[in-house]
Amino acid sequence: MKRTPYPHTVTPRRPHNVLIVEDDDGIGSGLVRALTGEGYTTTWAPDAADALRQASADIDLILLDLGLPDMDGVELCRRLHQISPRTPILVLTARSSETDIVVGLDAGADDYLVKPFRLAELLARLRALIRRRGPDSDDESTLSVGDLLIDTDARRVHVAGIEIDLRPKEFDLLVLLARNAGKAVTREQAMSDVWDEHWFGSTKTLDVHIAALRQRLGEHGPQGSRITTLRGVGYRYELPSRDEPER
Ligand code: CA
Repeated sequence: MKRTPYPHTVTPRRPHNVLIVEDDDGIGSGLVRALTGEGYTTTWAPDAADALRQASADIDLILLDLGLPDMDGVELCRRLHQISPRTPILVLTARSSETDIVVGLDAGADDYLVKPFRLAELLARLRALIRRRGPDSDDESTLSVGDLLIDTDARRVHVAGIEIDLRPKEFDLLVLLARNAGKAVTREQAMSDVWDEHWFGSTKTLDVHIAALRQRLGEHGPQGSRITTLRGVGYRYELPSRDEPER
């Protein structure tokens, strides 16, 4: 695909990060090239499993093909929306029936394009969605995973809408875990990020803080279900499961 210039395109200062969920190699690589050419950074997930792994607070917009090999696209849309409720989702679909589109929008999609679409149209919708998200959401001070909401500037944490009080290191640890939600954070990474760059020695303090965090987070949900211990490795903050109620 050749890069075509669009007169109204403004290259964002901080590149917006677009997660492309598309199993078709031709379309996927074409989108990567086109968006990169427009100043976006891209992450390409060829299936639903990879999309769920890649979805994080760092993603500014999700382009979601509904026809995927490993999961129904609408179901994936619902789960991605649960993981990051504030990230706009633009659905790409070969299904043009009104019912499919309505179902997709109900599942948390913000807009849709029926394949085949024009690149200019896609870019216009993409810009509109990012703009609509507003300047506030453009900063990286808000982090959300399921019902957990962290304002890193104000150092405030809400769980299911209720503010919880954390000690400074507990807060830093939670931010590290939440930024890497769904992924393992090694003990070494936690120690060096939260405590000291040149740390070495006992990591017992880490376990103590994890225990405290679990207790505080658990006051507003099942205790211990959010942070999983990875024996000999570290910890993982769990992404919300599909069984959790939608908000
Ligand atoms: Ca497809």
